Amino acid sequence: MLEVRGLVKHFGGVRAVDGIDFAIRPGEVFGLIGPNGSGKSTTVNLVCGLYAPTQGQILFQGQDIARVATHKRLSLGLARTFQNIRLFTNLTVWENLWMAENAPAHRAEAGFLKRWVGGRGNARERISQALEFSGLAHRADDLAGSLAFGEQRRLELARALAARPRLLLLDEPAAGMNAEEIAQLDERIRMLQQQGYTILLIEHHMELVMAVTDRICVLNFGRKIAEGTPAQVQADPAVRDAYLGT
Ligand code: ADP
Ligand code: MG
Repeated sequence: MLEVRGLVKHFGGVRAVDGIDFAIRPGEVFGLIGPNGSGKSTTVNLVCGLYAPTQGQILFQGQDIARVATHKRLSLGLARTFQNIRLFTNLTVWENLWMAENAPAHRAEAGFLKRWVGGRGNARERISQALEFSGLAHRADDLAGSLAFGEQRRLELARALAARPRLLLLDEPAAGMNAEEIAQLDERIRMLQQQGYTILLIEHHMELVMAVTDRICVLNFGRKIAEGTPAQVQADPAVRDAYLGT
């Protein structure tokens, strides 16, 4: 689904991403973890096209998208949530989704989406389902800025879903959530996987990452230091040194 090869991003002298490789299989929940500043968000920003790589390839379903414009990547089926929530706070919940839903309007319907929405429904139907899925149906007409923090995180997820992605990139979706919200997020990630989504999950909450991912790539100082199943990664001394031990 997604493969990065020799991916490099330097910001002046800072080697934020310093030559990483990984491949995400269709239908997989793939974790990307590492200490603060290890290059996780930069990697997602490169995949989404917020930044151009200094070097390297980004293959999405076999096509090198490293130089493809961000909105085109969205229409190819890449959607993401942000580590720091980015919503239109003075628009309603519904309006936030309406804008996302209309972004990839030119894209042909994805097969898995038909499964999710049960056919080529109209935009309203898709938004309703994204709201329903995120537990926000009762908040549709409220301003996004009036939502509680956990609800805003759910709206971010709903917005990414309304864009009908094939690959969903979640940058620390559990940040700031309480235990109950994290349990619900765990549930939602599993449901999305069952519905056929492929997910790249960046997360600091180790319990969540270890529970929902199939494989994990561990970064430290912009480099990959380990990759494997949650059990393999947890048992890796280099990972313990760099991350779990801290
Ligand atoms: P993580 O998400 O793993 O915490 P980031 O990818 O945000 O790490 O950051 C990796 C490194 O790149 C950090 O040293 C950070 O300060 C730096 N960095 C990230 N974005 C920028 C930017 N836009 N300009 C300059 N430095 C950046
Ligand atoms: Mg980050």
